[in-house]
Order: sequence, then C-alpha cells, then structure tokens
Amino acid sequence: MNSRHLAIVPATWHVLWTYVLRRSNLPPPFLASFKLTQRCNLHCEPCPFWRQPTPDLPWGQVISSLAKLRQRGSRIVIFEGGEPLIWQDGAYRFKDVVAEARKLFLVVGATTNGTQPLDVGTDVLWVSLDGLQATHDRLRGTGVFQQALANIQANRTSCVYAHLTANRQNAAELPELIKFLRGKVRGITIQLYYPYGGKDDLWLPPDERERLLRQVIQLKQSGYPILNSIPGLRALMRGSWRCVDSLVDNVHPDGSLQQGCYLKGRDVPDCSCCGFSPHTEISLAYQGVPAAIWAGLRIFF
Ligand code: SF4
Ligand code: SF4
Repeated sequence: MNSRHLAIVPATWHVLWTYVLRRSNLPPPFLASFKLTQRCNLHCEPCPFWRQPTPDLPWGQVISSLAKLRQRGSRIVIFEGGEPLIWQDGAYRFKDVVAEARKLFLVVGATTNGTQPLDVGTDVLWVSLDGLQATHDRLRGTGVFQQALANIQANRTSCVYAHLTANRQNAAELPELIKFLRGKVRGITIQLYYPYGGKDDLWLPPDERERLLRQVIQLKQSGYPILNSIPGLRALMRGSWRCVDSLVDNVHPDGSLQQGCYLKGRDVPDCSCCGFSPHTEISLAYQGVPAAIWAGLRIFF
C-alpha cells in the first residue's frame, strides 16, 4: 500500500461530503485539466494548439494555479498541452511541476504524444495514439509511432495508458490497434475526435461512430483492457448524456482558469459532436453509475 492508497480515506470523505451529502446543481470541480503550454514538437494537421504558440506558463503562475485548483476542490490534476513534457521555464522542467503537484493532489497525470522519455514521475500517463503505424505517422509525422512505442516499452513504471482518439481516418483500424496494444500498456481509453472548426473530414458521422463503439464494447467484453465503462461507451454511441461539466476545471496556457467544458472558453460547444469521454465518464460517475465509478477507480488507483 502506498501513500496514494492511504490518501483514499480523506478523498472518499471529501467526495461523500461535497458531491453526495451537499449535492448542488453546480457541483464543484473534482478533476483539473492543466494546459501548461501550446507548444508542441509535432505539427499534427487538425490540431489547433501548435499553430498559435505562446510562451510557456511561467513557473510562478504554475505554482499559484496549482494551489488555486486544489483550493477550488480538484483532487486530480492532468497536465496537457500542446506537449506538456516539453514545458520549461529557466531551469525548471516538467518533472519539477509534477513534484509540486504531487504535494497537493491525490493523483497527478499527463497526456503526451509519446515522443519524450516517459519517466516523468506522474501517477498516470496517457500516450495518444491515432492508429496503426501508417495512419498514426500520416496524422502525426513520419517515425512518430515507433518513437512512441519505443518510449512505452522503455518505461519502467506501470502507469502508462494508451489514449485513442477515433476519427474518420482511423476508426476502421482501432479494433486492430486495441488488440496490438494488449500487454504493452496498462490500459486503453478511447474518445472521439471533436471537429474544432466545424464538421470536417476527420469527424466521425453517427453511423460510423456507432459501428466503432459497438466493436469497442465487444472487445471490452472479450477482456481487452479498455477502461471506458460500458455505460460510458453506450452514452458516446448515442451521442448524448447529461454532461456535468462543472466537475472539471481548466487552466489554459495563458494561465486563465475556467470551470466546465473547455470548449466554452474557445467557442460555443456543439454537444451533438462531442466525444470527450472523460466528461462522459465523470458525469456518469457523479450520477452514481457504478461502472463509471469503477472505471475511475481503475484508472486513477
Ligand atoms: S501531438 Fe498533440 S498537441 Fe502536438 S500537434 Fe499533435 S495533437 Fe497537437
Ligand atoms: S461539448 Fe461535450 S464536454 Fe462540452 S459541454 Fe458539451 S457534452 Fe459536455
């Protein structure tokens, strides 16, 4: 048993008191998504971040934002980007951010493109994969798939998950990718591509979305390590759920803080296109769906 497991007791009390006993229409945040930088060493075609590189958030603001997130209620923080593992300010590097975050949060995680060494001290780490080698490299750059795979295999911890974002170009091969990843990662999570600039070539129409998610559910039922819950996958398949987006806090790369769906800070969200499975799962967990609560426990503990 480690300190994270011991911390479950106060965390459970926090959850019971805040989200069950004092239920409100606008529950406070429980999970924070912290975008440390817009910079990225890759230039994926559909990605909006690398096109508007801004200076990385300075160390002082990182520290004060972490304290604010904790004070507002979050117990889990996930660093994102851009590519969070390349964040830097003077002598400070991403590992220093993780070390500070670990003092405040029950779980510290990150999402990465997998091109940097993965030994960064987080409790959980998602490597984003967009398909088998040819598709992944077409979307992300030549050689990126093998680089990510080599880093996954070189990693000595058991905290690495694969995170798959389904789009029109990769949906047909995701079942094969899931089979390929079995035994290589601790688990697999899946979400659906969101068309930031309006429905585009990567957006998965409802019939293809349904076909893929039926296959994913079958794979999960056959024992593949897919960590989305089945109710969560079914909600994604229908393309609608009661989204309790206030459970998520966001820090943007300019240091601004926003509660709720991060699209609300950029655009008017089109919920009919949404495939942000973390929001699906946390919303269902808040609504008391046991499989979604179990999915969260499996992922974070
Ligand atoms: S790796 Fe991620 S952050 Fe970087 S360009 Fe690609 S999608 Fe954007
Ligand atoms: S776009 Fe998705 S995450 Fe955002 S409010 Fe709509 S359903 Fe929730």
